[in-house]
Amino acid sequence: NGKKSDLPLCISHLSFAYEKGHPLFKDFSLTLESGCHLTLTGRTGSGKSTLFKLITGLCLPDSGTIALFGMNPAAIPPKERRKIFGIVSQSFPMIDGTVRDQITLGDMRITDTMTASALRISGLYETVMALPQKLDTPFQDSLFSEGEKQLLSIARALVFQPPLLLLDEMNAHLDSLTEQKVLDALSRASSHRTVLSISHRLGKACQGPVLRIGEGREEGKP
Ligand code: ATP
Ligand code: MG
Repeated sequence: NGKKSDLPLCISHLSFAYEKGHPLFKDFSLTLESGCHLTLTGRTGSGKSTLFKLITGLCLPDSGTIALFGMNPAAIPPKERRKIFGIVSQSFPMIDGTVRDQITLGDMRITDTMTASALRISGLYETVMALPQKLDTPFQDSLFSEGEKQLLSIARALVFQPPLLLLDEMNAHLDSLTEQKVLDALSRASSHRTVLSISHRLGKACQGPVLRIGEGREEGKP
C-alpha cells in the first residue's frame, strides 16, 4: 500500500513545448490517487489535449516524468495501453468495418462478451442489437446519430475495463435528451475508476475538484 506504482497517474516536474521558447508546461506536477475524479479546465490552447497526448505516450516530455501505475506511458506497448487507460477524445474517427470494429479497433483479443458489456455501460447495447446484423452490421456514418457515436466511443474506451479513464470534452452539439444519455453513460463509466476529464463548461457533468491549467502564460494580457 502507498507505493508509487499504485498511483494511476503521477506527473512530476513536466515541461513540454511544441515550439522552442513557447512552453505549454513548465515544471508541472499532478498526482491522481486511485478512484479520484479530477476535472481540468483552461482556455482554448492552454494545453489540455496536449496533456492527454503526454499521458498516453503520444508526445514525449522535454523534461520531467509521467508514470501510469509506475510505468512510462511511451514505453507501454501500444496494444497494452487500452488495458490501462481508456480515452474519449474530442474527435473519435470511426473506422472502415463493422459496428464491432468501431469498438475493438480490430483487436482479436476482444470477445463479443467484452464488447457487449462495454456497450451496456455506454447505453448502446439495445440499439446495436436492434440492427439487422447486430455487431456484424457494416458501419456507415448514417447508422448512428452524433450522440450515439459518442456513446460508441465511450464503449471503445471501456472495452478492456481500464482502471483509468481520460475524457476530453466532446465537441458535438447534442440535444438535451441525447446529452443526458451521454452524461449518464459517462457517469456509469466513471464509477469505480480514476477519471481525469477536460471541460470548458464546468456544468452538471463536473463533480469533484477542478484544476485550471495554463493561466501563467496569460499574465499581463487584458
Ligand atoms: P481546446 O480547449 O481548444 O481543446 P487545448 O487546451 O486542448 O485547447 P491543445 O490542443 O493542447 O489545447 O493545444 C495547445 C497549443 O498547442 C495550441 O496553441 C495548439 O495550437 C498547439 N498545438 C497543438 N498540437 C500541436 C502540434 N501537433 N504541433 C504544434 N503545435 C500544436
Ligand atoms: Mg483540446
